[in-house]
Amino acid sequence: MSKTLIRGAKVLGGEPQDVLIDGETIAEVGVGLSAEGAEAVEAGGKVLLPGLVDLHTHLREPGREDSETVLTGTRAAASGGYTAVFAMANTFPVADTAGVVEQVYRLGQEHGYCDVQPIGAVTVGLEGRKLAELGAMHESAAGVTVFSDDGKCVDDAVIMRRALEYVKAFGGVVAQHAQEPRLTEGAQMNEGVVSAELGLGGWPAVAEESIIARDVLLAEHVGSRVHICHLSTAGSVEIVRWAKSRGIDVTAEVTPHHLLLTDELVRTYNPVYKVNPPLRTERDVMALREALADGTIDIVATDHAPHPHEDKDCEWAAAAMGMVGLETALSVVQQTMVETGLLDWAGVADRMSVKPARIGRAHGHGRPVSVGEPANLTLVDTAYRGEVDPAGFASRSRNTPYEGRELPGRVTHTWLRGKATLVDGKLT
Ligand SMILES: [Zn+2]
Repeated sequence: MSKTLIRGAKVLGGEPQDVLIDGETIAEVGVGLSAEGAEAVEAGGKVLLPGLVDLHTHLREPGREDSETVLTGTRAAASGGYTAVFAMANTFPVADTAGVVEQVYRLGQEHGYCDVQPIGAVTVGLEGRKLAELGAMHESAAGVTVFSDDGKCVDDAVIMRRALEYVKAFGGVVAQHAQEPRLTEGAQMNEGVVSAELGLGGWPAVAEESIIARDVLLAEHVGSRVHICHLSTAGSVEIVRWAKSRGIDVTAEVTPHHLLLTDELVRTYNPVYKVNPPLRTERDVMALREALADGTIDIVATDHAPHPHEDKDCEWAAAAMGMVGLETALSVVQQTMVETGLLDWAGVADRMSVKPARIGRAHGHGRPVSVGEPANLTLVDTAYRGEVDPAGFASRSRNTPYEGRELPGRVTHTWLRGKATLVDGKLT
């Protein structure tokens, strides 16, 4: 059994301590621990967090291996401090059967960089007409508990109701991509002052908010659990706040890019800023930050959406929607939430590890940094400052909106059940 001593790490941002990993488990936490028989890692005041958990990742395999594979995506995840990711179902073929989810799950296990928990499609082929085999996917080796047609909205209220009823039986959750399709036909960016000036088709806030309002009411009606993907508007925050105050079982996520970037960037016509839901206004950004701080929004999820160069390096109207995010998420959260005083590191651990693990039922993840727990850990050099250079990404894709931007913080080490997947910023 190999032993590692992490010396002088600020556990959740607290006072420096030593953490001894023995095999797959945290064996000791304390001050002045002996390094005898262990490999020592000098943390020197870096922050130690439970391994991050992403509830919303697009790994693209099977079918779009030119964008990303389970291997490259999980290497990107380990590089960003993640020990578990939930892989969205909009692959080719769609992850709507036990066979496909088991394939994705097994690839994650084989590569060993990060646990991969597949998300199952809600409807067959993401077509929104017929419920997929939710029970079979849950009972498969992949043990699916989260279901989503992400990329598309489950817009039929009857289908949504049936899905909520079905997953209730085994404690699953439906993760909704809230986008009323008719209200967003031809949409190119947020509907507002900027879209009017640029003459681009608008994606109005109400298209998101109306679906969230409907779905929290449906969840209440059937007594089931709904999760809202990538919430992006101030109005959506108000609806979720209201629903939680009524005791409705709803959780919500926000992406790093919606915490930092606004639709003003679309004036550049750089397709790297094209994303769904679109970048919103400064007012929305501020409301999202406050909601993440006060717990109305439960978690940060990346919506890591890799695209090959040719799908992004074209005119705005033709470009694919989405951004990579696994390797920059923690830095964006440090800048927008920690350095603004809205969250401390314990709060970051809660929003990026504990709660996403709980929502997705990712066993062994999001656990306290204490004796007897699985050694899923990430070490962050929070004093680091540097420009984002996509050439160094482990992801197969480079479509980041942060190229050349200075962001704080850098993950230096990641451990998955005691095995180092990232050492001194280098993948093992
Ligand atoms: Zn989505």
